[in-house]
Formats: sequence, structure tokens, C-alpha cells
Amino acid sequence: MYSSDKPFIPPQVRETPTRFRNAFGKYRVHRTDACNASGQCISACKLGVNKKAGSRVVSPNDYRCLGPECPMACFDTCPQKAIVIRKDPNFDTLGDYRWTPDLLLSTYYMAETGKIPDSGLEYRTGGTGGGFDKLRIVFPKTSKKIIPGEVDTSIRLNRLDDGRPEVEIPIPVYGGGMSFGSVSISAMLGRMRAAAAWGTFACTGEGGYPDEIKPYDDHVITQIATGLFGVREETIQRVRIVEFKYAQGAKPGLGGHLLGDKVTPAVARMREAVVGSSLFSPFPFHSVYSVEDHKKHIDWIKTTNRRALVSVKVSTPTDVDMVAVGSYYAGAHIVHLDGSYGGTGAAPDIAKKNIAMPIEYAVPIVHRFLVAEGIRDKVTLIASGGVRTPHDLIKIIALGADGVVTGTADMVAMECLRCHNCESGRGCARGIATTDTELVNLMEIEWAAQRIINLFTAWRTEIQRILAKMGLSSVRELVGRTEFLAHDDYQTAPLDADVE
Ligand code: SF4
Ligand code: SF4
Repeated sequence: MYSSDKPFIPPQVRETPTRFRNAFGKYRVHRTDACNASGQCISACKLGVNKKAGSRVVSPNDYRCLGPECPMACFDTCPQKAIVIRKDPNFDTLGDYRWTPDLLLSTYYMAETGKIPDSGLEYRTGGTGGGFDKLRIVFPKTSKKIIPGEVDTSIRLNRLDDGRPEVEIPIPVYGGGMSFGSVSISAMLGRMRAAAAWGTFACTGEGGYPDEIKPYDDHVITQIATGLFGVREETIQRVRIVEFKYAQGAKPGLGGHLLGDKVTPAVARMREAVVGSSLFSPFPFHSVYSVEDHKKHIDWIKTTNRRALVSVKVSTPTDVDMVAVGSYYAGAHIVHLDGSYGGTGAAPDIAKKNIAMPIEYAVPIVHRFLVAEGIRDKVTLIASGGVRTPHDLIKIIALGADGVVTGTADMVAMECLRCHNCESGRGCARGIATTDTELVNLMEIEWAAQRIINLFTAWRTEIQRILAKMGLSSVRELVGRTEFLAHDDYQTAPLDADVE
């Protein structure tokens, strides 16, 4: 278990390449018939794109290629001029404005190597033209010298001083709810193992607590949602954090859905449902219409598990500040705000884009209201719904959150394509959002765990670099510091400011 009193040793990075024969890349490296296998391109390329097996030059690792602007320029080094570099036509068909092709490939790169890409991929922002993508990080002129590797990235999850255990995590990130049924057991276990290695948490979602995750109890958040699927006293008692899901930002007011296609015998057993029948977790909790009702829910958990912290996950309605304050007075340790851009491809687009408030608007409203009420230091405020990169994480903490929850970023680390077929039984070509045994076998648990470990290693390195450049020695010093942000449209940073 992590504690900031002891030195923290981050998990080991291991190169974990794609599990498919042809990885997506930005460029393709062609060799013409003029190639005489001299192998000079192999010595020229420090990224290992060009390869030889015996005396033959074999298919290159194109996906690592830097393209025609590459300073190593194997295409010039080749005496036969046999190398032609072209843009991969598949590249522009990948992703969407939120997860651009650059963001997808750079996340794949971080998950493979544990490093920030140096290949010219835009790994910081997407292409939505709003929200995070219009916010810039502004670096002040500071004489304070901070060594990036020494910046403290840990956060506290229990600030209520109610006699329950202190829970600290070494990175300001934990994994959001993805249920057994909505994702494969391999995806679920990959996330749990990565959370355990990082000393943080991952949430079960509302589909129950498969036996396979029991070895990771200390790093599991179990969720209670309106359908009460798989909710058992025994599993509530196993964990250190229990989460009530009142709503999710991708589809507030619509509840949860698991279509019949994905309700296999194992899923049905876990959820006490009928194989092949669609399952709906209705909105709202009909047992909660006031703060007093809310308190009864929280008291139920606190009585069932005397050491657990309680998190309350809500979406972002216009009165989200009242919801947050009510949750604090009801006894919640963590208020988890879920904004509108999250959710898997199973969440309907019309809901994602039109109902909840974007997280970048909700967090400062709640943060300021909690400060005005004098209770900000008693609540841990966690944000989710569209946090794709370490830059998004820095921005949302500067807007007032303490930390973030990720979901899609973990899936992209596991090579999700953002194809939006997650709701269908055999729709996920990557074996992530599926319960079909043939597709589940496409992904090994160890591979998935290591990719997520690598991703968060890269994120932490970048978070430490940014905080050190800001002159901060801890991520906790960044909370609510909007002076580190500028908006492209409304507020220009000083002309001489260093901006990213
Ligand atoms: S262009 Fe650069 S990165 Fe690409 S194969 Fe040649 S040397 Fe390697
Ligand atoms: S690759 Fe799988 S998890 Fe990703 S969007 Fe497609 S169906 Fe969903």
C-alpha cells in the first residue's frame, strides 16, 4: 500500500509493442527494387525502423518512422536511393476530433515505451476546437529550481478526518468504472494489475466483482449503481473505496445499458440475470431524493465496511455545486464529477454531446463553491470525462480538481481504435469491450497491464516536467491555480510568457 512517508518505487517499464502484425503509423517506408540489401538504412535509423534478418532487409517497423522531415534521413543515406517515405493513407481515417490520429498514435507510443513521443506527434491536445483544446498552460518566469524527478505527484483521498484510514495514491489518477460485461475480463484484470503496480485504484463499474479480481482487493473500487447488479455485502467489505454511481457524464438521465449480445452465461451469473437479455440500470436511484436520503446510502456503506472511503460519482448538471456540497454533508470522502465527453463507444453520441456540462466548466464551479463554503480542504474532488493526456490532467487540476479518473485513455493504451462498436457482442475488433470468448483471447492480461503501467509512467514524467517548470514541488500546489492557464479566445498570456 502506498504511503508518502515511504520512498515510492515506480513500477518497471518494459517495452510492450503492438500485439498485431501491422501497427498503425503515420508513415509507410517503401523499398524499391533498387534495394541491394546493403543495410545502410539500418545504421542510419536510430529508431529501429529498418531491420535485417540474415542477409535480407525485412519489412520495416514503419509505425515508428518520423517521416520525410526526419533528421536521420535514411532515404538520403541509401546509396541506391531505394527508400521512399509516404504518409500512411490509413492515418487520416483514424479517431475523431476528440481523439485525433496523433493522440491515438502518441498514446500507443507511450503505452509501448513508457516515454513521451519525440516523433512530432501532437500528444498534448486534440482537435475539438473547444474546452481543453483551447486552454494553454502558461509558465511563469521563476527562479525556483525544481528537479522534475523530485516533484511529488501523490494525492490524499481521505480528507474528512473521520477516523477512517488515510488513503494516498502516488499519481493523481485512478481508473474509472468499466464493468464485467461491458469490457472483457482481460481488460478488467489488466487495469486492476496496473492499478496495483502503481499503488492506485481501478473501479469495477456496476457489473459485480469477478473472483479473478480478488487478489487486487486493496486496489479495487467497487461500484453501486441503480441496477444493483452484482452488489453483495461480501464484496463491499473487501475493498478500501466504495463508489455510488448516481449518474455518468456521457449519458446523464439515461442510466446504464448492457445489450443482450454481451450477456453471456458468466456475465448473467455475476449480475443474477438471464443470458442474452438486455440489462438496464435505470435512472435515478429511486431511494434518493434528498441529502438526507443520500446520507442513508452513505451510512449503509459505512456501516457495512468500517474502513472504506465512500466516493460519489455524479454527472454535471447546472446545479452540480449543490450536489457536491450535499455529498460532503452526507459524508462522502470523494466527490467524483463526470463530465460529458467520457464513456465508451456504447454511450449514444446525442447524449454525450448534448446533456451534461463539460468537465472544464463544472470543476471550477464546484471548486469555488466548496472554497466559499469553507469545506474545500475536507473533500477530494476528482474529475473525469475527457481527460486524455497529461496536459488535460494539469489543466483540470489548475481549474480546481485534486486528481482525475481515466477510462478511454486506458482503453487506447490497450489499442482501442475509437471505432464506437463497444455495445455490440462481436463489435470490438481489439478484444477490449467484448465478452465473446474468441475476441477476449485476442488480448493477454500481462500485455494489457504493462501497456497501462507504461502509459502512466510517461504521464507522470510529463506531469513532473510541467510542474517543475511551473516552479511547483507538488501537484497539490496546483489545485485551483488558474493563473497557470490561458484561453486561446478570451485571455491571452503575456507576450513574453512561455506557453504550451
Ligand atoms: S525516415 Fe528516419 S525514422 Fe524513418 S526509417 Fe528513415 S531514418 Fe528511420
Ligand atoms: S476498439 Fe473496441 S473498445 Fe475501442 S471503440 Fe472499438 S469497440 Fe470500443
